[in-house]
Amino acid sequence: MSITSAVRTVDHLVIGAGFAGLCAAIKLDQAGEKDFVVVERGSDVGGTWRDNTYPGAACDVPSQLYSFSFAPNPDWSMSFSPQPEIQRYIQRTAQASGTLDRFRFETTVDDATWDADQQRWIVRTSPVAGGDPTTYAARTLISGAGGLSEPKLPEIEGIGSFGGELFHSARWNHDVDLTGKRVAIIGTGASSIQIVPAIQPKVAHLDVYQRTAPWVMPRHDRTYSSLEKAALRHVPGLQKVYREAIYWGRESYVLPFTRMPAILAPVQRVALGNIHKGIADPELRAKVTPDFTMGCKRILISNTYYPALAADNCDVVTDGITRVTPTGIVTTDGAGHEVEREVDVLIVATGFHTTELPITEHITGREGHTLAQQFDETGMSAYKGTTVPGFPNLFLIVGPNTGLGHSSMVFMIESQVSYVVDAVRTMRAHDYGTVEVTERAERAFHADVQARMRPTVWSTGGCASWYLDKHGHNTTLWPRSTFAFRALTRSFDVAAYTVTAPVPTTSTTPDRKVVNA
Ligand code: NAP
Repeated sequence: MSITSAVRTVDHLVIGAGFAGLCAAIKLDQAGEKDFVVVERGSDVGGTWRDNTYPGAACDVPSQLYSFSFAPNPDWSMSFSPQPEIQRYIQRTAQASGTLDRFRFETTVDDATWDADQQRWIVRTSPVAGGDPTTYAARTLISGAGGLSEPKLPEIEGIGSFGGELFHSARWNHDVDLTGKRVAIIGTGASSIQIVPAIQPKVAHLDVYQRTAPWVMPRHDRTYSSLEKAALRHVPGLQKVYREAIYWGRESYVLPFTRMPAILAPVQRVALGNIHKGIADPELRAKVTPDFTMGCKRILISNTYYPALAADNCDVVTDGITRVTPTGIVTTDGAGHEVEREVDVLIVATGFHTTELPITEHITGREGHTLAQQFDETGMSAYKGTTVPGFPNLFLIVGPNTGLGHSSMVFMIESQVSYVVDAVRTMRAHDYGTVEVTERAERAFHADVQARMRPTVWSTGGCASWYLDKHGHNTTLWPRSTFAFRALTRSFDVAAYTVTAPVPTTSTTPDRKVVNA
C-alpha cells in the first residue's frame, strides 16, 4: 500500500532544542539562513536541562562559563546554578533570539533518509501525541539530539516486577512524595550525588547502592551579591574577563587528564579530605574511597553528599544487586549470603545511552545503512566530531569525541555550530549540492584522536566508565584542549570533503507531494 504525505521543503532541519539545537537555530538565523525547522520531541526548549528536574539538580560547571558566549547573563544567582535557573536562561535566550516560530515541539523524528536524486534528507516526523505526520525534504540535517538524552535503565533481574514507585533520575516523578518513605537509589554518579543530599533529610530511610565509589571534591559554590551582579551588568568587559578566568582555570585540567594523571595526586588528597570531613565512621570512609585514579570518571563536586551518606537514616550498600523483587532489592555478599532490603520507592540514577546514540538508528545514509549500523562496524567516529563519510550534508553537534571531563559543553557546541554554519555558507557561496567528508580525512582524524587517547587518565586510570564503548575505545571525550577544538572548527575545510554540484531543480513550488511506498 502506498501513502501520500505532504512534503515540506526546507533548507535545514535541526533535531533537538537543547543548547545544541538552539545554538544552531540562532547562528543559522544570524547568518541569514532563515529557512530551517527545529524538531523537538519535548514541549519546550532545554534538552537535558528541561528533562533533569530531580531534587538538587544543578550544573557542576560554573554558570558564567556554562552559558552562550553571545548571551551573557549577569543575573546568575550562584556560581553553580540550579536547574530551574538554567532552564529559564535557555527559555529566555530562545525567546530573545526570534527563532521560536520555526520550532516544532512535541514532534519526533521517525527517520531521516538521504535521497541522492534530490540531494536532500527526507525526514519523517510525527506528533508525539499522535496525529498527522509531516515529512521534510532538507538540504542539510543538523542533529543536536544530545549525548545525555536517553536514560539507561539497569538490566537487573526482576526490575519489571517491582511493585512500588520506580523512576529514572532524568524522568523524576514529582507526583511521588518521598516524605517518610523507604527509598533506594541505584548509582553514585553525577546525578545521584546531587539527589542523595536533597532527599535524605525527608525520607524515612535511604539505601544508596554503590557499584563504584566516585571521586567527590568540595564544591566551591557561592551566592553572588547584588553588588557583584550589578558590577557584572554594568562594568564593561567585566563578565567577559570573569568568564575567561574560569575558562583558563578549567583548561588547566587538560594536561593532567590527557598526559600526566600523576599531577592530580594533590587534588586527589583534597578529595580524600572531603571524605574525612564528611564522614567520621572509618568503615564508611573505606567504602566510599575510590579505587581508581581521579579523573578516570567524571570528578564530582559536593559538600553535602558525604554527610548525607553518614546520616543515621542512610546506608551505603556495596554488595552486588542480584535481583529486584516486588517489594525490595536483593543483594549477595562475598560469602554468598543474600539480603533483601524492602523499599517503597526505587530511583535509578544509572546514566544514559552515550556510546550508542539512539538518534543514529533513525538516520540512513547514502549506502542505505543507518548511522548506528556504520558506527557498530567502525566504532562511533566523526570528522571533527561532526561529519561522517556516507552521510552527505549531515552534521552532528555533540557528536563522537566532543564530550568534556573538565569544562563547558556549551563552548564545544558553539565551536561545532560555527563550523556547520561556515559549511552552509561555503555550500551557498560555491553552489555545492552536497559536501561529504572523505573516508580518508575521517579515518586520519579518528586515528589521531585514538592515539591521543592512549595516555589519558580515561584509558589508564583503572576504571570502567561510560566514556568507553563496548570495544573499550573512548568515543565520547575530546582528548585535547577546548581551544585546539575551536581552532580546528574555526572554518569549514572543504579540502577534506567531496563536493558535488546541485541537481537541477525540477519543481519551482517549495512544497511538493511525493508518494511513499
Ligand atoms: P553516570 O555518571 O553514568 O552514573 C551512573 C551510576 O549508576 C554509576 O554510579 C554506575 O556505576 C551506576 N550503575 C549503572 N548501572 C548500574 C547497575 N546495573 N547496577 C548498579 N549500578 C549501576 O550517570 P549520571 O549520574 O546520570 O551522570 C551522567 C552524566 O550526566 C555525567 O557524567 C555528566 O556528564 C552529566 N551530569 C552532569 C551534571 C552536572 O552537574 N553538569 C549533573 C548530572 C549529570 P558504575 O560507576 O560502577 O558504572
